[in-house]
Amino acid sequence: MHPFTLAFLVALAVTTLAQLWLAVRHIRHVAAHRDAVPPEFTGRITIVAHQKAADYTTARTGVGTVETAAGAVILLAFTLGGGLQAISAGWTRLLQTGGYAHGIAFIVTVAVIGGVFDLPFGLYRTFVVEARYGFNRMTVRLYFLDLAKQALLGLLLGVPLALCVLWLMAVMGDAWWLYVWLTWVAFSLLYAMLHPILIMPLFNRFTPLQDETLKGRIENLLARCGFRSQGLFVMDSSRRSSHGNAYFTGFGRAKRIILFDTLIDRLAPPEIEAVLAHELGHFSRNHVWKRMAVLFGVSLGFLWLLGYLIGQDWFYGALNVQTHTTAMALVLFFMVVPVFAFLLQPLMSLYSRRHEFEADAYAAQHAAASDLAQALVKLYQDNAATLTPDPLHSAVYDSHPPAALRIARLQTAKGSC
Ligand SMILES: [Zn+2]
Repeated sequence: MHPFTLAFLVALAVTTLAQLWLAVRHIRHVAAHRDAVPPEFTGRITIVAHQKAADYTTARTGVGTVETAAGAVILLAFTLGGGLQAISAGWTRLLQTGGYAHGIAFIVTVAVIGGVFDLPFGLYRTFVVEARYGFNRMTVRLYFLDLAKQALLGLLLGVPLALCVLWLMAVMGDAWWLYVWLTWVAFSLLYAMLHPILIMPLFNRFTPLQDETLKGRIENLLARCGFRSQGLFVMDSSRRSSHGNAYFTGFGRAKRIILFDTLIDRLAPPEIEAVLAHELGHFSRNHVWKRMAVLFGVSLGFLWLLGYLIGQDWFYGALNVQTHTTAMALVLFFMVVPVFAFLLQPLMSLYSRRHEFEADAYAAQHAAASDLAQALVKLYQDNAATLTPDPLHSAVYDSHPPAALRIARLQTAKGSC
C-alpha cells in the first residue's frame, strides 16, 4: 500500500470517527439535561419548549451521523473504489481525454452524482425532521422547483468558472494556481455583489418594509450608528420555513437590510431593533471582509498545494486513479482535502464566535442589551435550538456562542446611547 493511501485512510477514519463521537456526545449531553430548564432560563423558557429543543437537536444530529457515515462510504467509492476513474473512462468513449469537453463532462457528472446522494438527506431533513417539529412550510413541489433552479444556476455559473479554471491550468505554466486564485477571488466578490440583486429574487420575494413604527425605529438606529442603507426589505421566508432571521447583504452603497417575515411576526419592534443592531455590529467591525480575507488566504494555500500535487504521480495512483488530467486533479483534490482539513473546523468556529461576541457588544452599545437578550431567548425557543449543547461539540461546530454565555455577557454589558 502506498504511504499516501494509508495516510488518506487514517485521516478519513479519524475525521469520521471524531465527527460521530462528537455527535454521540452531543445527543447524550442534551438527553442528560432534557428534564430541567437550565436555571438561568427558568421562567423564560417552558419545560415543553426545552424538551422540544432537546428532541429536535437529537433528531437533527441523528440524521447528521448517518450523513457523515454515508459520506465516508461515498468518498471511498469515488476514490479507492474506482468511481472517479470509471466516470472518466466512460466519457473517454465519447470525448477526448484531457480536452475541455471531457473535463467539464467529468466534473458535471461527479457533481450530479453527489447531488443525487444528497437528495434523500435533504428530503428527510425537510419533510420528516423539520415537518415533525412544525418548522417546514415547503411543499414537495417548491422543494423540487428550488432544486431545479439551484441546479440550473450551478450549471450557468459553475460551467464557465470550471472552463476558465481548466484553461488557466492548461496555459499559465507552473504559476497557474496563482491565476486560478485571482479568478476565484474575483468570482467570489462578483458573486457576493450580485447575489442579493440577481439570485435571491429567484427564490424569494422582497417587499419594502411597510410598518411605519418599525421603520422609524430602524431608521433612527441607522442614523445613531452612522449607517446608510439602500433600503429595508421584508423577505417571505415563511414560504419555506418558520425559522426567523435578519441580515444585511451587499457591499458599499448597495447595502440592504433584509428582515424575515417570520422575525417580524414574532419579535416586538425594540427586539427587532436590537437584533439589527447586532447585524450592524458585524458590518461595523468588518466581519464580512475579515472572514473573506481568511477564506481567500486559506484557498491560496490550498491552490498552491494542488499546484504541487498535480505533478505527483503518487497523488493519483495512491487514490486509485490512472487518468492524470487537470479536471481529475481538481475533483480529487476537493474531495480529499476536507478529510485532512477537519482540524480547521474548530478554528473557524472559534473565529466566528468571537465575531458574534463583538457584534453583541456593539448591539449593547447602540440598542438595549436587555432587548437583544429577550430576542435571543425568543429565537432560541422558536427555533428549538438547544440551551444545553455538549461543550466540546459546541466548541468544534457552533458559529454562535451558547445562549447562556451570550445572555450572561449581555446582562453585564453597559449601554452608551
Ligand atoms: Zn451574528
